[in-house]
Amino acid sequence: MSTLVFKWNSTFVQNGIIPRNSDILNSPIEYLKGVGPQRGELLKKELNIFTFNDLLNHFPHRHVDKTNVNLISEINPSTDYIQVAGTLHNMEIVGMKRGRRMVATLRDKSGTLELAWFQGLSWIQKILQPGQPYLVFGKVNFFQGRPQIVHPEMELFTTEKKDGKSFLEPIYPTTEKLRSKALGGRQIGKLTEVMMKLISEKDLPENLPDDILNKLKLVNRFKAYSQIHFPATLPEYDEAVRRLKFEELFIAQLRMARLRSQRHRFSKGVVFEKVGELFNTFYTKYLPFELTGAQKRVIKEIRKDTATGKQMNRLLQGDVGSGKTMVALITMLIAADNGYQSCLMAPTEVLAQQHYNNITSLLKDMPVEVGLLTGSTKAAERRSIQKKLDDGSLQILIGTHAVIEKAVQFKNLGIGIVDEQHKFGVAQRAMLWEKNEIAPHILVMTATPIPRTLAMTAYGDLDYSVIDEMPPGRLPITTVHRYEKDRPKVMEFMKSEISRGRQIYIIFPLIEESDKMDYENLMKGYENVKAWFPEPKYWISMVHGRQKADQKNNNMHRFVTGDTHIMVSTTVIEVGVDVPNASVMVIESAEKFGLSQLHQLRGRVGRGADKSYCILLTGSDIGKDARERMKIMVSTNNGFIIAEKDLDMRGPGDLEGTRQSGVLNFKLVSIVQDRPLLEVARRFAEDIMEADPELSSADNLRIRSYLQAIQGKTAWSRIS
Ligand code: ADP
Ligand code: MG
Repeated sequence: MSTLVFKWNSTFVQNGIIPRNSDILNSPIEYLKGVGPQRGELLKKELNIFTFNDLLNHFPHRHVDKTNVNLISEINPSTDYIQVAGTLHNMEIVGMKRGRRMVATLRDKSGTLELAWFQGLSWIQKILQPGQPYLVFGKVNFFQGRPQIVHPEMELFTTEKKDGKSFLEPIYPTTEKLRSKALGGRQIGKLTEVMMKLISEKDLPENLPDDILNKLKLVNRFKAYSQIHFPATLPEYDEAVRRLKFEELFIAQLRMARLRSQRHRFSKGVVFEKVGELFNTFYTKYLPFELTGAQKRVIKEIRKDTATGKQMNRLLQGDVGSGKTMVALITMLIAADNGYQSCLMAPTEVLAQQHYNNITSLLKDMPVEVGLLTGSTKAAERRSIQKKLDDGSLQILIGTHAVIEKAVQFKNLGIGIVDEQHKFGVAQRAMLWEKNEIAPHILVMTATPIPRTLAMTAYGDLDYSVIDEMPPGRLPITTVHRYEKDRPKVMEFMKSEISRGRQIYIIFPLIEESDKMDYENLMKGYENVKAWFPEPKYWISMVHGRQKADQKNNNMHRFVTGDTHIMVSTTVIEVGVDVPNASVMVIESAEKFGLSQLHQLRGRVGRGADKSYCILLTGSDIGKDARERMKIMVSTNNGFIIAEKDLDMRGPGDLEGTRQSGVLNFKLVSIVQDRPLLEVARRFAEDIMEADPELSSADNLRIRSYLQAIQGKTAWSRIS
């Protein structure tokens, strides 16, 4: 539903007429009775509500049963939300500066409750009338032992009865700004009520096939919209939510399944018909190790895809250290063997640089031209690269997202490889497609294992390969959780590892590169490490996001070459960096990291033949969730298990990178809670695509015209 975009025709605005046909949903919101230009502007700005349709899709976050009023005396420390009624007394402004607030007392026959407001005070003062009865709803907290509601929902209490029926009043998400203009959570419902009277069944025609409606016993679309806003009973509300959630999931799944199916059937791709000279020479002479079975299998899958004449769009998942880079390199050599250029994109400069160093050294005795393009590439170098891209002499381009900028043009790009995909979204992939007349093949590689349900939702338009086997000879990493008080012991352990010739990472949290506090913590941490490990016995590198690229590279380089013993860093090294001699990963304030990030960081060690360790350092007083995360990290090295746990604990909204994917911006659906419904939607979508890929049967016509209506002009829906 997030993809529902209705463009309204500007003539409506000029004429100021609301058309009485199905276009009513396209009407600008200011034309709704009770809105007008001023509040219209606010609704647009604050809630992105531009049209009737936007308001229709602004769902209440709860319903209040107005007949269910509690007594104030019933409030106890375990009370959460409550609705009470009483008279308003003692309104006054107290406190100074940030503590400045309006307080008032609500009194019913059983007791008193404190109400408080921190924002919009002058409006509240104007609107509320002391001495009057109010119906008050809100979340109770205890302040100095007394119950209190901050920013309660208030309305004058009238005893009018709604025909004795229970009456569920919708409460909508809103903002303080809107509240202060009389558009609070309740008032938005008044607008919705007015709008719903103007809308009829033909404005919201059914879009799901009857077969599905019957099998799943779903209410029709119009009814669902009416009931989600104004249900007569709670079961009615649940019924509406289930229908609309299913629709959201089903439409998303169907679009993906359709993209996949169309690509498989119609897409035109460049053909890598042979495995040639470059591949053979590299494979027999320069490959430094035997490929694992999984690597071989994946290369075969890619070979098969790229030889068919269809465009490949493949997601390659492999845990950290499973050897994805080699798969990328071999794929690029095959492209070059067939006369095509390729590019490899990494999410950071450090990583791009490392790939470049790695690949150029592997190919140093081979006739392959490799270039590096990042944000900090100088203009002259950039021009020279562009020239070689134009005449086709540059075969492999490695870089950051600089590579996909419009200005960069290829002579014949055959494949784009995206490493550590979670920093790239669908839109970026689409930009790659634009880089060649026939869209290049795309290989997306990720080490953040995505649970199956998420993968099928976020990347459902991609085919899927897994490297599920580690290179031989790796020892499992030992992970421990240590508290601040254990620090001296941890430092001693580090010293003993260094004395055995090993190197060490120490990672500090820097959630946002711009966060000043974190930055200061990092500097303090660095000083602290220096005190434990004084020069000239020990040498330390530091890398963080505020450094210039060459400074970063220089520090990184000193660590890679073994000139420094310790790398103090923020998460800029999180992905991809490969220093096989580093055997200890110390993560400071580990409680501040999410599970998949911890797993990524841990993956920086255990790459060589030595026994490796990951030490999670935290304060003694960490929360329940953090403790759980530490326990999971200590108990398993398996990225797929960790990804599942991560999803359970945090939900997909937080999973790194999935936010950008856009595809997960569901309105109602929660990928965690609605996993069963997702599976159902997926099954129905696939069945339909299989039986009727053109959606041309009578029962599927609705869904087809609905998909056409919402298609929009998004680049990534384009298949070439
Ligand atoms: P990731 O999948 O995390 O990107 P890399 O491609 O960086 O992993 O590989 C991790 C390390 O394993 C590198 O040092 C690489 O050279 C090495 N490696 C990759 N494949 C093999 C293999 N088949 N046998 C031995 N070592 C390998
Ligand atoms: Mg990698």
